[in-house]
Amino acid sequence: MYGKFQQHLQEELKAIELAGLYKKERNISSPQSAEITLQDGSKALNFCANNYLGLADNPRLIQAARTIMESRGYGMSSVRFICGTQDIHKELEAAVARYFHMEDAILYAACFDANGGVFEPLFTAEDAIISDSLNHASIIDGVRLCKAQRFRYANADMEDLEAKLKEAQSCRFRIIVTDGVFSMDGNVAPMDKICELASKYDALVMVDESHSAGVVGKTGRGVQQQYDCYGRVDIITGTLGKAFGGAVGGFTTGRKEIIDMLRQRSRPYLFSNSIPPMIAAAGIETFKILEESDALHTKLMENVNYFRDRMIEAGFDIKPTQSAICAVMLYDAPLSQVFASKMAQEGIFVTGFYYPVVPQGQARIRVQLSAAHEKEHLDKAIAAFIKVGNELGVLK
Ligand SMILES: *Cc1c(COP(=O)(O)O)cnc(C)c1O
Repeated sequence: MYGKFQQHLQEELKAIELAGLYKKERNISSPQSAEITLQDGSKALNFCANNYLGLADNPRLIQAARTIMESRGYGMSSVRFICGTQDIHKELEAAVARYFHMEDAILYAACFDANGGVFEPLFTAEDAIISDSLNHASIIDGVRLCKAQRFRYANADMEDLEAKLKEAQSCRFRIIVTDGVFSMDGNVAPMDKICELASKYDALVMVDESHSAGVVGKTGRGVQQQYDCYGRVDIITGTLGKAFGGAVGGFTTGRKEIIDMLRQRSRPYLFSNSIPPMIAAAGIETFKILEESDALHTKLMENVNYFRDRMIEAGFDIKPTQSAICAVMLYDAPLSQVFASKMAQEGIFVTGFYYPVVPQGQARIRVQLSAAHEKEHLDKAIAAFIKVGNELGVLK
């Protein structure tokens, strides 16, 4: 039976490869960190992980995960509501809610699940979801699973958002949905203006803080802190897989009744396993570390500023980043791929993005900075950028 289908897949895969879109994996044999070791023993400096606060190999998180296994075991073998809730799951939910100044929180196996399970339980065909055009794939999929009417506004374009809010005025409820930081440009959603429009047009507000939590805002508490819009955002989703330790796990935090309803009706919560004790315990430890001190966030911001300033001095065209994502603009798709592979030869891992991931003619190298980077790492990366930039005629 497989024969014809196999041939079909082989042809599709060939087409992906010919288009230069075939994704290969790098095989790492060390912990995730600023400096990583590959399977062949070579080393590289990593500028393409979401390890913003450098917590992915933090000794306190490793110890917390190890210790809890002695008292709470390895796995839960249950969904939360049947028999999969331990004291530490509730403790982590409380820590998430406290961090974001929200009333309650609910954990998921991933933020992909948090976004997949947030719309359908809350909204029906009478309602409207108004979504930024650059929102993450998991938001797009979550919206698809819900019967609400869909409106899409151009990225961070407040005129367009206002127009869509007007169109949606006859709906029962409206919700504006945005990423906190958009992962291609590193720009932050204009939350002050979004919240103003939400109150003018009677809409709820939801933010996905996956790339912004731990990063933006005076002490890294996310977009609410950056724009001082506490009390005006109704739902926040986020991941434990980026700044907050980098393992797995996601959450939705927000108003009490919203979280209550998700516990009753959210399908990825009801029909998927509880996160394991080690993830819950390391998550609790993550928020302890962040409550004790802002040092990691301070170091991250110093690294971002240092890298951006040196790169601009060197003559690179840098998007005005407001996050830990720095887009080095090259505009040409093949050039972005050659540039990234030459950087890898220099021992620096960065990612080249081009259409359709970014708009046509907007190819770039995306650099992700981390509190794990030391000055010497940044200097090596900048030197490699200048060398490759000269070789490829990007720097004049
Ligand atoms: C990474 C990311 C997710 C997915 O998070 P996981 O916990 O890895 O599933 C969701 N939304 C945004 C905006 C992200 O950047």
